[in-house]
Parts: sequence; C-alpha cells; structure tokens
Amino acid sequence: MDDIRDLYQEVILDHNRHPHNFRKMEHPDATLEGFNPLCGDHYTFYLRFDGDRIDEVSFEGSGCAISKASASVMSSVLKGKTRDEADRLFTLFTGIVTGKMDAVEHLDELGKLAAFVGVADYPVRVKCATLPWHTMHGALHGKDESITTE
Ligand code: ZN
Repeated sequence: MDDIRDLYQEVILDHNRHPHNFRKMEHPDATLEGFNPLCGDHYTFYLRFDGDRIDEVSFEGSGCAISKASASVMSSVLKGKTRDEADRLFTLFTGIVTGKMDAVEHLDELGKLAAFVGVADYPVRVKCATLPWHTMHGALHGKDESITTE
C-alpha cells in the first residue's frame, strides 16, 4: 500500500499547487461558506445546476494543502453528477476518511477520491479533507448558514 500512498500524495500536492475550478462563480444557484477553525481552512463554494445535474462547482478561499486539494478534486468529480450521486459520494468520502467505511471495498466507486484514503490515518486532517464536502452538501440541500467543523 506504501507505493499507492506515495502516488496519492502526489495527487494531493498537485491539486494543491494547481487547484481546479478555483474561482468565484457569477450567479450561482447555490453558494455556501465553510470554516475549519482548527486549521484555518476557509472556503466559499458555488454550485450551478442543469436540471437535476450539477453543471459546475467552483470555490475560492484559502487553507492547507489537504483542504484545497480535497475541494479541487471534489469540484472536478461532481461536475455532471445528479444530486443523488453527489449525496452518495458525500456519504462515501466522509465515511472513508473518518474510517467508518472500508476504502478497499469501495475503491472503484471512489475513483480519484481514493487519493484521500490515507487521511483516515491522520485524525487532525480529517476535518480539512471533509470541510469541502460538508459545505457542498449543505449548499446542495439549501442550507444558508455557513458550515463549521466545530
Ligand atoms: Zn486544513
């Protein structure tokens, strides 16, 4: 598993250096802020829908490498997904990085999100990795109060 973890580390570093969809969206259908006070991660997420599908996800803000990479990968993975598929990925991702679900059983379904499997071994990093997902999930379900991990 060590080689795979190194590879995943590369994915995280690369997305941190060159985050995808890192921009403000004009006229989003949903937007929400998320904070992780423990680490200082702070992002705003924007969603645009095309019927039941997520047409575009973008974000801006700042934080550690894990949170930024997680937001970047999430934004690319969710494009074109239905609301139900996004909910399923939210459950899967948060389940795996919190250690409640087994990553090996769900590797196919995880796809690119597998880069974050190793986060489960670092409890202080779990909130960094899940903050984007909790914020997106809140926006998807019409929450209008910002999300905080505390
Ligand atoms: Zn962080």
